[in-house]
Amino acid sequence: MRSQVSRPADNHVHTHWSWDTADSSTMARACERAVAEGLPAVAFTEHLDFTVWTEEDPATAYGLIDRHPAHQLPIDVEGYFAELAECRDRFPELRILSGVETGEPHLFAASIAAHLRDSPVDRILGSLHSLSLDGRLVGVGRLLYSDPDATMRRYLGEMVDMIESSDVFQVLAHVDFPRRYWPGGSQHYVEKDYEEEYRAVFRALAGSGRALEVNTSSPLASVDQVRWFREEGGEAVSFGSDAHQPTAVGQRFDLAVDIVEAAGFRPGRDRFDFWRR
Ligand SMILES: [Zn+2]
Ligand SMILES: [Zn+2]
Repeated sequence: MRSQVSRPADNHVHTHWSWDTADSSTMARACERAVAEGLPAVAFTEHLDFTVWTEEDPATAYGLIDRHPAHQLPIDVEGYFAELAECRDRFPELRILSGVETGEPHLFAASIAAHLRDSPVDRILGSLHSLSLDGRLVGVGRLLYSDPDATMRRYLGEMVDMIESSDVFQVLAHVDFPRRYWPGGSQHYVEKDYEEEYRAVFRALAGSGRALEVNTSSPLASVDQVRWFREEGGEAVSFGSDAHQPTAVGQRFDLAVDIVEAAGFRPGRDRFDFWRR
């Protein structure tokens, strides 16, 4: 087993304060798991998604009128920060970061800015979960079935727009999220088929100095993929379990560390930092 000294922070953890996560997934249980796994830090990055938006949000100019499905719920900020404070008292050996995972941040810039003005957090992830279809924002898993290849190319193209038009997030989460839902199983997904599209995403991300997440809920990225990011100028890599239950905190981090190391990244300034080239 790898020495725990080199285990990175888990910068992507959900608890029951996220709309898609069970009540039993408490922060305390996630912290217990993080300590047991020898992680130096966790960030509670709850989903910040919008089912209604304002005139000022780019989604309006983009022509979006609806979202499908639309069961996303707001974060109970008061409850979230109260439990976070309790955990910081109870687990002094663990660094506990506040955070959000912003969904489609380029479309909801005004609503996200308003949320963060009232409730600033330490760690902000940027995610693309949905694409537009006839004026509706639709979960990407639902779009894959008609034409997976075209959807994947459109997804990675939209991600370039998201990076170029939103500077609110620090870390790009699960760059190839649709591979989780690949028709016939994720083992049929071929990264290499999209190398040019990945490289365009990585150029945009590296150009803005932000970190790429290696997401360990998704089928793991290959060494090649992380190396493409490095070759395009990428400086920093973040590790995220995307845990929606406490037992998944820090999952497969030893494997992810091996991949990131083989792609040419090393631990950063201290054990809480991103890994760097
Ligand atoms: Zn996500
Ligand atoms: Zn997530």
